[in-house]
Amino acid sequence: MRGAVLYGPRDVRLDERDGPKIVELTDAIIRLSATCICGSDLWPYRGIEAVQVPAPMGHEYVGIVEEVGSAVRTIEPGQFVIGSFFASDNTCEICRSGYQSACVHREAVGAIGTQAERARIPLADGTLVATPDVPPPDLIPSLLAASDVLGTGWFGAVAAEVGPGKTVAVVGDGAVGLLGVLAAKHLGAERIIAMSRHVPRQKLALEFGATDIVEERGDVGVARVKALTDGLGAHSVIEAVGTQESMMQAIRSTRPGGHVGYVGVSHDVELPGRELFFSHVHVHGGPAPVRRFLPELIDLIWNRVIDPGKVFDLALLLDEVAEGYRAMDERRAIKTLLWP
Ligand SMILES: [Zn+2]
Repeated sequence: MRGAVLYGPRDVRLDERDGPKIVELTDAIIRLSATCICGSDLWPYRGIEAVQVPAPMGHEYVGIVEEVGSAVRTIEPGQFVIGSFFASDNTCEICRSGYQSACVHREAVGAIGTQAERARIPLADGTLVATPDVPPPDLIPSLLAASDVLGTGWFGAVAAEVGPGKTVAVVGDGAVGLLGVLAAKHLGAERIIAMSRHVPRQKLALEFGATDIVEERGDVGVARVKALTDGLGAHSVIEAVGTQESMMQAIRSTRPGGHVGYVGVSHDVELPGRELFFSHVHVHGGPAPVRRFLPELIDLIWNRVIDPGKVFDLALLLDEVAEGYRAMDERRAIKTLLWP
């Protein structure tokens, strides 16, 4: 089968890979209906995050189940399914507490690589959620968004304790930040400040429910958020970048007693203990337990309440995967969808 493989910095190629096989009795094999490129794929692509190459790429997926192992009980061939970037049993104590991305049996789907025609998904019963029926084609981008960026933005909002009457600030205007805006709107936020300096992304943020745009970054950006909130800072701040600057911008934009939900994959971030101590800010985040939110998100998409698929502003064939990475690397695209 064809699949994307990273060979070195800025060198992604479509290769002929071995087709997936059932390895564990709890596995499923899916045929991808669509896949995509994640902002987090850019870290190894740019050579910032060291990976052993050649590395199969991709951890976002929706598709049709082709085959299941003999121990799989609820997932069946023919179903259209969505899963997240960590396979999880959904039965252990950590899963049942809502942290499936820290499942005691978790497996990273990124190591399998879903920018491909087919993929093996471990722990199928726990990991995969089937849609009510095979979806119409126009719903596929939104369902694919639920596999990671929507679920991650949603967790950012939940971790930031977004709710009715609250002012929310969102640091980061990638797909996760933009869908954090959408999540905040859906969760009832009164005011949503999107921090972005890119006009097309500002527009999408406004479409998703942002009420204010702040273009400045760093301490100037913090001062703008404070100015919009009577000098107090936001109740809830979603951090969706993962750098030292974005993390400090998030913490400093939050009022005492407020909450930061951080979902940008942390790269060389060091938090100053003394500043954190005196900030009175709650800080919670990490790899999003997307599986917790999937049934609700699928329902909202299926009933056309939300349209997170709008974050895909470039759709290519899987054959054009190298161009898909280049477009995101050069910020010509927010997020690239790939049709296998
Ligand atoms: Zn578990």
